[in-house]
Amino acid sequence: MAELVIQNAVKHFGKFTAIDDVSLTVSDREFVVLLGPSGCGKTTLLRAVAGLGMVDSGRITVGGKDITFLPPRERNISMVFQNYAIFPHMSVFDNIAFGLTMKKTPKETVRERVHNAAKLLHIENMLERSPSQMSGGQRQRIAVARAIAVQAEILLMDEPLSNLDALLRLEMRAELKSLLATLGATTIYVTHDQIEALSMGDRIAVMKSGKILQCDHPTKVYDMPVDQFVGGFIGNPPMNFLSGQVGRYDGALRVQIGNFSLVPTDEYVASLRPYEGKPIIIGIRAENMEALAEPVPDALEVNVEVVEPLGSQNLLTIHVNGDTLKVSTHPDFSVRMGDRIWLRFPLHKIRWIDAQTRRSIAPDLAQALAE
Ligand code: ATP
Repeated sequence: MAELVIQNAVKHFGKFTAIDDVSLTVSDREFVVLLGPSGCGKTTLLRAVAGLGMVDSGRITVGGKDITFLPPRERNISMVFQNYAIFPHMSVFDNIAFGLTMKKTPKETVRERVHNAAKLLHIENMLERSPSQMSGGQRQRIAVARAIAVQAEILLMDEPLSNLDALLRLEMRAELKSLLATLGATTIYVTHDQIEALSMGDRIAVMKSGKILQCDHPTKVYDMPVDQFVGGFIGNPPMNFLSGQVGRYDGALRVQIGNFSLVPTDEYVASLRPYEGKPIIIGIRAENMEALAEPVPDALEVNVEVVEPLGSQNLLTIHVNGDTLKVSTHPDFSVRMGDRIWLRFPLHKIRWIDAQTRRSIAPDLAQALAE
């Protein structure tokens, strides 16, 4: 069992806290993506696991064994670096063999493992070449082959696709996902590309300022972000946020967006009651609103400012009470800039966010279970 457990990890650089009390458990054979903006501490955390930069406090275990302060060579971990760390003076074979040679692995085993890894990465015919004769994508394959040839219990990948062009990145994303599923290594994969995170990970850990804000299945992180930052960081376009006001009208709790009113679903009524008379933020994804060409009851009348045809969808930009809303519509929905349309908000898709703390408001669980 190669379960990786990080407990209360803290890392300072001088007075700056790069890792701020991070705990994360990656199950045996699980693929966890660390996602967050530049500078949030992803690489620092990965390096602490690899032993390339020790934590100041906290504990890291693999399969129950404490590795917190072990030197890298005594950890059964391999890493793919963002810049690939390919040695230009060595052949592709020697580059892939590097980790094994360092561990003084018998020659025959090295040969076998290098060939197997190269085959998995489709570079088995290039083993005698120099890396300088290879493309960026092929060099990236050398780096991955070197990491998997070691057959370590834990595989760490630091933005392995970030140096590739968009098309190659798309290809490699699917290939890498399939390869990692075959290998079954316990993997942490660092990226700041949220599409990569959503499409590849068993779980996504979203980091900000040295902390993990949410660690969950991609669809959960996308659909139920813990706060406005996560909702706004994940998704393209990001989650929309509208300013609203909680009040009571005709005896029922409602949330007003200007003159338009939303009635929260039953499981949120109790949680929203303390917000009566206060502002609130309404979170809704672009694809979760229904755009209609004709007026219907309970729909908000809006003016379409911009239409962006994106092939599989049209993306509309709309202003509502000073907030900007992105609405995704089917390409068959005929709309032009300047048109009036009507928007329906499916209530179960609305996320209510505290306007002060910016944290999502949880539903009343007892009510949710009763339904
Ligand atoms: P990116 O996506 O840009 O690679 P990251 O999330 O991986 O960013 P880290 O490289 O972990 O971020 O850096 C986290 C913070 O710690 C940054 O503010 C960085 O400037 C700082 N930092 C990292 N290494 C050092 C160091 N050796 N000395 C001082 N500060 C450092």
